[in-house]
Amino acid sequence: MRSPIYQIDHLVHRYHGQPVLDIDQLLIQPATIMGLAGPNGSGKSTLLKLMAFIMRPDEGQIYFDGVPALPFGSVVRFQVTLLTQEPYLMKRSVFNNIAYGLRVRGQGEDTAGRIHEALEMVGLDPERFSGRQWSELSGGEAQRVALAARLVLKPRVLLLDEPTASVDAVSSELIRTASLRARQEWGTTLVIASHDREWLYDVCDEVIQLFKGRMTGTGRTNMIFGPWQEGGDGGFHKRLGDGRRLIVPAPPHAEAIAFIDPAAFRILDSPADPVAEHEACIDGTITRLSLERHSGRLYADVRAGSMTLVVCVEAAHVAAMTLHRGWPVRLAYRPERVQWH
Ligand code: ADP
Repeated sequence: MRSPIYQIDHLVHRYHGQPVLDIDQLLIQPATIMGLAGPNGSGKSTLLKLMAFIMRPDEGQIYFDGVPALPFGSVVRFQVTLLTQEPYLMKRSVFNNIAYGLRVRGQGEDTAGRIHEALEMVGLDPERFSGRQWSELSGGEAQRVALAARLVLKPRVLLLDEPTASVDAVSSELIRTASLRARQEWGTTLVIASHDREWLYDVCDEVIQLFKGRMTGTGRTNMIFGPWQEGGDGGFHKRLGDGRRLIVPAPPHAEAIAFIDPAAFRILDSPADPVAEHEACIDGTITRLSLERHSGRLYADVRAGSMTLVVCVEAAHVAAMTLHRGWPVRLAYRPERVQWH
């Protein structure tokens, strides 16, 4: 195996003395598309800025290609590019916005051809868009121009911060396709932060979940926020709507967040099947089936009332192909497997 393009060791970062990132170790192999999932404030943007080497971590080390890399160091400067959440376009034409990075890097040859290719990659017609001013673009078009300005550099690493946050479905799909092409054509490594879990799974080989600055396993962990209700029998649950309840053990405090491993659920062969003594059950409908590329595992998104649970599909169901989108299913799980944070 090749050495990782990123090796992050014992990374801690603080703002005003408050720790916002605390990562023991993270390895990213070249030409991987890695997703960072997690709610707002979990540290995704901070991690991307550190990986872009535009900030210095308070503690720990980031190795790039096996070498400790420093912010703004010459080794990484022209290899890593970050597309921030609200990309900044300069007050000039689309062409000149995209050409800027090439000129800074002294890559002046065939500028027009490369800009043409980059615009096509993000689904913008070069004839129509090259001459447009920055002020003549919709939000989604501006985001795609900003992405084209990164793609034209054929970067070794492309870091995308919430690339689909303010764009429509068509732009999201174009950003997905462009990301996959960058990896395929130039072996670009991508790290993409997004709170849009479904979009992230469609693009990424692997998704890690950040929560309060820490890695909490894969992005497929179910993270469930309260409020938690106490039932008449002394047990606790969350109301999901449509009369459904997710039964949990006693939460440690009112704001506690429940984490449930997708493998903690099993899909009953038939909703009429009995559940075991210590199991609870919940009814839902399959809304999506997805294959995790690196592990070969199949996951089902199961809509239950107002919530979508991610469930790891057992081998028997995969072999029998008994699951389809739109099918009603009953899930069984042991509430004791709920973990609190
Ligand atoms: P995410 O990208 O997951 O939303 P961020 O990395 O932006 O998370 O933020 C992590 C935490 O750090 C949040 O609590 C946020 O308020 C705080 N934070 C981010 N940037 C700054 C800053 N420049 N100064 C102080 N606090 C910040």
